[in-house]
Amino acid sequence: MPGKEVAVGIDIGGTNTIFGFADRGGNILAEDRLKTTHYEEVEVFVAALYEKILVTAKKISEPLDIKGFGIGAPMGNINKGTIEHAAGLPWKGIIPLADLFRKHTDLPVVVTNDANAAAVGEMIYGGAKDMKNFVVITLGTGLGSGFVIDGKLVYGHDGFAGEIGHTAIRPGPSNRDCGCGRKGCLETYVSATGLKRTLLKIMADSIEPSDLRKYSFEELDAEIIHDYAKKGDHLAIRAFQHTGRMLGFKLADVVAHTNPEAIFLFGGLALAKDLIFEPAKEYMEENLLSIYKGKVKLLASQLSTQNAAVLGASSLIWTNEIK
Ligand SMILES: [Zn+2]
Repeated sequence: MPGKEVAVGIDIGGTNTIFGFADRGGNILAEDRLKTTHYEEVEVFVAALYEKILVTAKKISEPLDIKGFGIGAPMGNINKGTIEHAAGLPWKGIIPLADLFRKHTDLPVVVTNDANAAAVGEMIYGGAKDMKNFVVITLGTGLGSGFVIDGKLVYGHDGFAGEIGHTAIRPGPSNRDCGCGRKGCLETYVSATGLKRTLLKIMADSIEPSDLRKYSFEELDAEIIHDYAKKGDHLAIRAFQHTGRMLGFKLADVVAHTNPEAIFLFGGLALAKDLIFEPAKEYMEENLLSIYKGKVKLLASQLSTQNAAVLGASSLIWTNEIK
């Protein structure tokens, strides 16, 4: 008896790698994860990931007919199946990810940028179902972006279109170092790590008391800052406001480049809701060219944080136009 047709969607993030088995209707039958940061060697990582995928598949009660592996990763290149110089991952240089996967399987393996995968997920299963022009911004350890224009995901000449995380928001030699080797990139401000850097700067410049001061650099993360902001901690709220404004300022440029109907925010920081959306919306509107004002929707991803990336990655196997 043939099994249920599924695609394995894999989202490789700077901290965690999440994978799931998705059917054509976008239902995830099972999901699991492993820590990306535990693997210094990418070959060991791929072997461990493949093994864990097989173990998880066996736990699903019905027989599966796996159609392929769709992988979203920072600096993932759909043309070559590579990850190239991803600042936020443990592996440097050009990683032949699809080829490494093919050592374990003869099934199709498709690699793309994680934000592009999230955009495909949003388009097929989420809030962008009826849209032809939209942008998805992923806010995780770093910042990714996927652009859909006239119903098509934009890949560009080399497959690397849409890296707004590495466009400058504060250019100049005295600005924040980015993992990409440059300075003042958007993701050094607008990301989980950017938020933490901003909070630490605010704490250093201020004498206002805050319980956040008891945390060490290592202990602090975006979730803790979010918790304190919800409780009304002024420094945490200021850190979110600053992050949201930087994002909004850059989004005004994004709108001028692609004239989207909507911009979706996806990922951990997007869960902070008004804390990030309000300043982002305000600064975007304030900086928009008048022809765009009041027209661009800034929305939360309609898919749950983990599912969009996994669904998007899995749908790479279903979509014919992306090869
Ligand atoms: Zn950068």
